[in-house]
Amino acid sequence: MRMFQLCVCGEPLQANEQPTPQPTGSEVLLKTLAAGVCHSDLHLADGWFDLGGGKRLSLADRGMKLPVTLGHENVGEVVAVGPHAKGVPIGARMLAHPWIGCGACGPCRRDEENLCRAMKSLGVFANGGYADYIMVPHPRYLFEIGDLPAERVAPLACSGVTTFGALKKVPTLKTEPTVIIGAGGLGLMCLALHQKMGGHSAIVVDVDPAKRKAAKEADAAHVIDGGAPDTAAQIIDLTQGGAWAVIDLVGSSQSARVGYDSLIKGGKYIIVGLFGGDMTVSLPPIPMRALTIQGSYVGSPSEMGELLDLVRRTGLPPVPVATRPLDDVNAVMDELRAGKVIGRVVLQP
Ligand SMILES: [Zn+2]
Ligand SMILES: [Zn+2]
Repeated sequence: MRMFQLCVCGEPLQANEQPTPQPTGSEVLLKTLAAGVCHSDLHLADGWFDLGGGKRLSLADRGMKLPVTLGHENVGEVVAVGPHAKGVPIGARMLAHPWIGCGACGPCRRDEENLCRAMKSLGVFANGGYADYIMVPHPRYLFEIGDLPAERVAPLACSGVTTFGALKKVPTLKTEPTVIIGAGGLGLMCLALHQKMGGHSAIVVDVDPAKRKAAKEADAAHVIDGGAPDTAAQIIDLTQGGAWAVIDLVGSSQSARVGYDSLIKGGKYIIVGLFGGDMTVSLPPIPMRALTIQGSYVGSPSEMGELLDLVRRTGLPPVPVATRPLDDVNAVMDELRAGKVIGRVVLQP
């Protein structure tokens, strides 16, 4: 089988050939049908996150071992199952939940595998879907998708469940406007799911006019230039006093300033994006204004199940998806880095 592997951080992925593995125990082997390219693949390829102030978080310190096949937004067809993998028929088309925990710790036992301290996520700590085949450790991470188009389902594995998990943390989703910072692949997914979940209205912020245009076309109530000197003031104006909830899909020093400064008393600033940086906040206003700063990281297997139920009821999120051959993976990652991608690019072997 072909696989595109990160062998050295900071270098392009390498095309390698390996014998196709055979599933043992509870493992399930999928033939890859679609693998979405996510912004976090760029961080993985770099090997670090920017902590601000010149500090870096190294992925090697977090347990990433090379070489590893990237690709965590995967759909595939079941081609072989281990002797203990029950309920997965050969030929079934499956979405693979990639956020896999150790299975033994507290968060894993209470179905919060995405908060496990020893994650084995596919495409990060274990081989992912930029390959002809992908091995999934247990059927519980597989969700049957029937006839849904693989390339449109694949982004649900990361961009879908990540924004779904963040939107679920907004108590005022149906009663007040929600501010979404970032209108890239994650932002347009968040906007689409916000609508499907019965969200009141969405104010979308982005520095790029092309991305603001895409958000407007996707029925954002308002779009705001994130590079304007008065972005937070514009949000406070539009929300008549400040936002009850801001979902920051960028996560930079600049976006954090905008998001946090836009909040109303009792408001919630939810950070999802991993662009990197830092921020300084005065402490007394946090209690006095009863503000919440919350992080949100991907989603649990049951959130993935809930998201797929929502999609079955209301249809797939209409996020623009372009398909490209798997061999183009390095070119696609370069385009994503240059900010040239609207929506999502999905690779097909
Ligand atoms: Zn991702
Ligand atoms: Zn665990």
